[in-house]
Amino acid sequence: MHHFAYRNGTLHAEAVDLARLADEVGTPFYCYSTATIERHYRLFAEALGAEAHIFFAMKANSNLAVLRLLAKLGAGADTVSEGEIRRALAAGIAPGKIVFSGIGKSDRELAFAVDQGIYQINIETEGELYALARIAAANGQRQAVAIRVNPDVGAGAHAKITTGSTENKFGVSMSDAERLYGAASSMPGLHMCGLAVHIGSQIRDLGDLEAAFARMADLVVRLRRAGHRVARLDLGGGLGIPYEMSEAVAHGPDLIQAYAAMVRRVLGNLDVEVGFEPGRLIVGNAGVLITCVVRHNPRPHKTFVIVDAAMNDLIRPAMYDAYHDIWPVTEPGPDVSSRPYDVVGPICESSDQFAAARRLPVSGPGDYLAIMTAGAYGATMSSTYNSRQLVPEILVSGGRFAVVRPRQTFEALLDLDQIPDWL
Ligand SMILES: *Cc1c(COP(=O)(O)O)cnc(C)c1O
Repeated sequence: MHHFAYRNGTLHAEAVDLARLADEVGTPFYCYSTATIERHYRLFAEALGAEAHIFFAMKANSNLAVLRLLAKLGAGADTVSEGEIRRALAAGIAPGKIVFSGIGKSDRELAFAVDQGIYQINIETEGELYALARIAAANGQRQAVAIRVNPDVGAGAHAKITTGSTENKFGVSMSDAERLYGAASSMPGLHMCGLAVHIGSQIRDLGDLEAAFARMADLVVRLRRAGHRVARLDLGGGLGIPYEMSEAVAHGPDLIQAYAAMVRRVLGNLDVEVGFEPGRLIVGNAGVLITCVVRHNPRPHKTFVIVDAAMNDLIRPAMYDAYHDIWPVTEPGPDVSSRPYDVVGPICESSDQFAAARRLPVSGPGDYLAIMTAGAYGATMSSTYNSRQLVPEILVSGGRFAVVRPRQTFEALLDLDQIPDWL
């Protein structure tokens, strides 16, 4: 469920008229709904219970205003780089609520994380374990560590977002985890806390998650039998969301409830502190990308609608063949005819396409369109390809809105480069 709906003939974000907002800030821009973020966070947090730790996976949306909002709701952060740790801290998330994940953390990043005193570092390789032990010991600290296990259960809506199969680069195998846990328990710089797992993204079939969690439960039992203390289980993120309106109506919050029940069933008797790293689930439906039709390019068998947003602003369709609903900002009346369009951006790549043969009300230059469910992996994956400016991000709350990232200026864009004086 989200808070984007038609009121008096135009699409609104909560009580803010998106056509008026578009007139004011110009297109394209991202617009996020506070109420939707709050709703999803609360639904998830309440379903999992007060003891669960929730670390919002910042790579889904790392705008400081969004992070501040989540921090106020009680969220911690799951980070994957020094930059993300710095963002989390800047947004007011305490170091004691930050997890550091990722397959290729540099020594410098590990040292930074240890120095900040973050809650947990999820180790993904044997080499990283030794590096962290050395860095933490040299610093006279004991860093809380979990080992990220690759349970050989891959899942997710697309090969590019599957992470839990042995074919993927993430985590250590079950048997290596057992060996390393034992070895690490006697290393001076480390405090072995538990295990972590994250098998993929946009997962809507709980069977794969259940299989992975059951393997984690087995591993916890084996480690404890071997005399190790396993206090924490970090269960990652990955829970999927409806990208199509029809699905949203059919499912709603049921998946979260079923997920919470499954977690209790599989891990309830284990006496561990559980943590979660949801990203997409919290922010995906809470954002839209508003774009404007530039013009048409009619062909004998199809018509391209060229819009002013492009793959550099939202890369999911090009990168993952992702589907996004596209809604006209002006509500189509009952007698408005529709026709199939290929909705494309202006970038010089054929993959710069948001939808193929999509039925939309007949629209022309100047019409605004909303690319729905763009709150996760939208702005965070954007680039300036084709020297296009990073687009604004707007946060709405009730009838108010704030520009939480202004449109990048061309000066700022050009200032990133420097010409050497020998040229
Ligand atoms: C990306 C990622 C997440 C979040 O995934 P979602 O599908 O957005 O919930 C959580 N944990 C780790 C380790 C990740 O890499």
